[in-house]
Amino acid sequence: MNISCSTEQKILEIPDEGEAIIAGYWSSELGLCTHSVLLEWKNGRVKSLLPVDHLESSPKKTQLWDSYYLLPGWIDAHVHLALDSLDFYQCLKNWVQPSLIEENIVRFLRHYLERGIVAIRDGGDLPGFSWRAKNRVVEGVWSGPRVISVHEAVNREGMYGRFLGRGFKDILEWREKKPNFFGQGLDQLKVVVTGIIKFDEFQRVGPTQWAVEDLTELVEAAHERGIPVMAHASGEMGISVAIAAGVDSIEHGYYMTTEHLEQMKEKGLAWVPTVAPIGNILKYPTDRYSAHEIDTLKRILEAQLSKIHEAYRLKVKVGVGTDAGAYQVPHAESLYDEMDWMEQAGIPKLEVYRMATHENAQILGSPDLGRLEVGTPLSLLQLVNDI
Ligand SMILES: [Zn+2]
Repeated sequence: MNISCSTEQKILEIPDEGEAIIAGYWSSELGLCTHSVLLEWKNGRVKSLLPVDHLESSPKKTQLWDSYYLLPGWIDAHVHLALDSLDFYQCLKNWVQPSLIEENIVRFLRHYLERGIVAIRDGGDLPGFSWRAKNRVVEGVWSGPRVISVHEAVNREGMYGRFLGRGFKDILEWREKKPNFFGQGLDQLKVVVTGIIKFDEFQRVGPTQWAVEDLTELVEAAHERGIPVMAHASGEMGISVAIAAGVDSIEHGYYMTTEHLEQMKEKGLAWVPTVAPIGNILKYPTDRYSAHEIDTLKRILEAQLSKIHEAYRLKVKVGVGTDAGAYQVPHAESLYDEMDWMEQAGIPKLEVYRMATHENAQILGSPDLGRLEVGTPLSLLQLVNDI
């Protein structure tokens, strides 16, 4: 079996049973421990975590990981495996050569594990690359994190999201094709509620694609099947429509208002604010954008960070998701950027850790992830040299 050592960016092979001295651990279940601990595991699962003052057991028998802390593996709540973060249009052209894309995906998946990321939620692609990747991992053909995939997104024909889904003319066409759509298989339903934000005009967002009653019908169709709904939505109107329709999470949510946050708190909706797609353009400068666009991006970033802090203060569920695959948002690495952005928003580090583990696990609908306690599989944990 394996455990991720994210500090070394390595996947360590370990026996199913063993013991090791570690420097400490953290999880939202057990809290923080910064003293030496004897970790014992059996059948691949944590058997005990016992404080050690001095080594009673023979150090010869004990594998020494004494510079590492044990943590739950990270989770990225929003990625696109079918995109390469380099050139969106070129990447879409490459989709006609599936072997090229699959080579990329195999590399990305391995990299996620090397960086301690044991699960990802994929926001979809029209050809179904992420859905197939999920299945390859389940079958054990590819090694990688657990993939929760929306398969194909639901968007309106002729509007934003052509690379995410086939596009439905209206709710009538959706009704007609619904059995086929659900028959393809999906872990969550992704609805494209709005277009994307404009980098050259503050507060401007592509149009809202669904009326509240139509979106409610989409959401209920998923909920009847026990499937959670993630909504791509930005702008005051689009976010209001998504909240009113009863989706489970708001993705991106640029231009979120205080009123939205209060409603989300009341309804228990989660927000995955994906700062990296805008923040990373500023953090890693390129000459792709004009001075005016950079100024606008700075305003958008500032507004997003202050709303994230407000959400944290109001105790709204906030997840950590990168939109990896988007320009300047590389798979795996960008989760560290996103966690940095959360800290920049003023959220304490261990609270960010809680969001990237425990909270994200709830958002993925996989509560067995993002935890560390007796019984947790070591394959869902990671070793790091700093907390
Ligand atoms: Zn996305």
